[in-house]
Amino acid sequence: MRTFAHRVRQIAPSATLAIDAQYKQMLSEGKDVVGFGAGEPDFDTPDNVKQAALAAMKKGQTKYTSVSGINELRDAIATKLKRENGVDCSRDNVVVSCGGKHALMNALYSVVNPGEEVILPVPYWVTYDEQIRLADGKAVLCPTEKLQIKAELVEKAITPKTKAIIINSPCNPTGAVIERAELKKIARLAADKEIFLLSDEVYEHFIYGDEEHLSPASLGDDIRQHTIIVNSVSKTYAMTGWRIGYTASTKELATLMGNLQSHQTSNPSSIAQWAAVEALNGPQDSVQMMKKAFDERRKSIVKRLNEMPNISCPMPAGAFYVFPDISRTGMTSSRFCERLLKEAGVAVVPGSAFGADGHIRLSYATSMEYIMKGMEKMEKFVKSL
Ligand code: PLP
Repeated sequence: MRTFAHRVRQIAPSATLAIDAQYKQMLSEGKDVVGFGAGEPDFDTPDNVKQAALAAMKKGQTKYTSVSGINELRDAIATKLKRENGVDCSRDNVVVSCGGKHALMNALYSVVNPGEEVILPVPYWVTYDEQIRLADGKAVLCPTEKLQIKAELVEKAITPKTKAIIINSPCNPTGAVIERAELKKIARLAADKEIFLLSDEVYEHFIYGDEEHLSPASLGDDIRQHTIIVNSVSKTYAMTGWRIGYTASTKELATLMGNLQSHQTSNPSSIAQWAAVEALNGPQDSVQMMKKAFDERRKSIVKRLNEMPNISCPMPAGAFYVFPDISRTGMTSSRFCERLLKEAGVAVVPGSAFGADGHIRLSYATSMEYIMKGMEKMEKFVKSL
C-alpha cells in the first residue's frame, strides 16, 4: 500500500474549515447567516494600487523577475522600514515572497534544524504551529498573562535547543499589542542567547488608542542581527489576494531564503509586485480610513459582547479581532461555535484552533451593520442557554 509523506499527513486540517464549510453551505441554501470568520479587510484594494497593476501589464512587466523581488519593491520596502519602523536596511536585506505566510515559511525553513525548538506564545495563529512542524521543528507553547506576552515566561521556555521565538504584535487571534518593556526584554534575551526573533508585523498599522507599534529590529544592531521581520501588504492595503509579503533579515539569511525560494515559487507575481510598490510609495490615506473604521467597529463589538450574559471580552489594542472568553457558558469553544452557527446563524472561530479553548475569535473586518446584526443574533442565542 502506498502512503503519502509524513510531512503532509501530520498537518491538521484547519479547525476553522469545518465551521467555514458549514457557513458557506448555509449561505448557499439561502439561510440568514452572519460570518465573523474572515481574517481580511472588507475594504477594496485602493484604486491607485489597481492602476499601478494595470500599468505594469500594459508595459509588459509580466515576465519572471529576480527571485527575491524587483529592485523597486525591495527599495520601497527598505525605505518603508526606515521611515515607519526606524529599521536600517537596504534591498539586500529584503526577500519578497508570495504573501506573509510564504515569507514566514522561508524563514522557518532557513533557520530551524530537525528537533530544534521554536517558542510560540499562546494563543497563537494556527499557521505558526503547522509551519514549525513542516520545518521539522518543535513548537514550545509558552503561556501568556491575560493574553499578554511576558518576557519572564518566554525566558522560562528557553532551552539549549531553542532556535527562535515568534512574536506577533498586534496578535491574531487576540488583538493584543505586546508591551514595549516586555518586547525590549525579549529582544535582549534573543540577542544575548543567539536566538532568532521572528517578528510578525502584518497588523502593525492597526493599533488603536495611544499605543504605537515597535519593531524589535529598531532596538540596536545586535538585536537587528537576530531579528527576522515578517510583513506583507495584505492587511495594510486590503491586498490579501495579491499575495505579496516579505522578510527583512541579515543579508546572509536573505541570500539563503532567496536560494530556497528560487527552487520553490521563484518570484511572486510581477504585476502584484508593481502594485505593492505603489501601495508602499503612494498615498497612505486608505490605511488611515480603514484604521478609523476598524476602531469604531472594535468599540461597538466589544460593548455588545460585554452586555451578553456569561461573555467577557477585553478591549483589544490592535488588529481586527476580538477574543472573548466564553468559558462561563460551560461549553467548549468548538461546541459553542457549532451551536452558535446552527441555532443562531453566526459563524465564529473556536479558540481551540489557536491553542486557547474557552474563547472564540470574531473578526470585525466587516460592516457595522453586519456586526450589529450578528451581535443581535448572538445575544439571543447566549440568553437562550
Ligand atoms: N501573520 C498573521 C498573524 C496573519 O494573521 C496572517 C494572515 O492571516 C499572515 C501572517 C499572512 O498573511 P498573508 O500571507 O496574506 O500576507
